[in-house]
Amino acid sequence: MKTAPAKGLVLVVEDESSIADLLRLYLSRAGYGVHVERDGARGLAQVQVLRPALIVLDVGLPTLDGIEVCRKLRAQDDWTPVIFVTARDDEVDRVIGLELGADDYVTKPFSPRELVARIGTVLRRSSGGTGSAVLETGSVRLDPASRQVTVNDRNVTLTATEFDLLAALMRRPGMVFTREQLLSTVWGAAAYGGSRTVDVHVAQVRAKLGDESPIRTHRGVGYSAGKP
Ligand code: CA
Repeated sequence: MKTAPAKGLVLVVEDESSIADLLRLYLSRAGYGVHVERDGARGLAQVQVLRPALIVLDVGLPTLDGIEVCRKLRAQDDWTPVIFVTARDDEVDRVIGLELGADDYVTKPFSPRELVARIGTVLRRSSGGTGSAVLETGSVRLDPASRQVTVNDRNVTLTATEFDLLAALMRRPGMVFTREQLLSTVWGAAAYGGSRTVDVHVAQVRAKLGDESPIRTHRGVGYSAGKP
């Protein structure tokens, strides 16, 4: 019998042994359990078996690439947080352009320390725990405790990042946040995605909430939700 790792299990799906070994080392030092798979199909299968707290998913993988793995998970309504590892800029574009519900991404070569910090940020967000009152703006209702969002009583599934972005805006109705403020509030100290990251996630939230989305764009400034 293995004892449960203090900080949860991270599934690393990466076919480059040197990177996988480095991640295993840094993650276990940081108190995470680590399981490594080297191809996409096995990685996908292990998500169901191991129920990891988070998946570090390389994009370029044998049998099934990382993007397909994430697409299949989301199609099964599995919203385990995913941090993509991309090798090139065009992979970054694929990851953020496809609304796969990626929680973050790093581009090779990356610092393992940086990735560990980002994993911590994503897990803090996805575990909620800030416990506060239900927020309502128009027909959108957001429950920080259960991390549920409904629009006219219809459930809307948001990724951890999308949820936190919407919650940050709804907590301060009418306040206009700059992209930089949203980056530091939602993505935390480990953020370096740039303002485009905020725009992409706002677009994803809007696509999911449809006409009922409370998010307003303030040209040249940023975003707000709720009262004008
Ligand atoms: Ca690879």
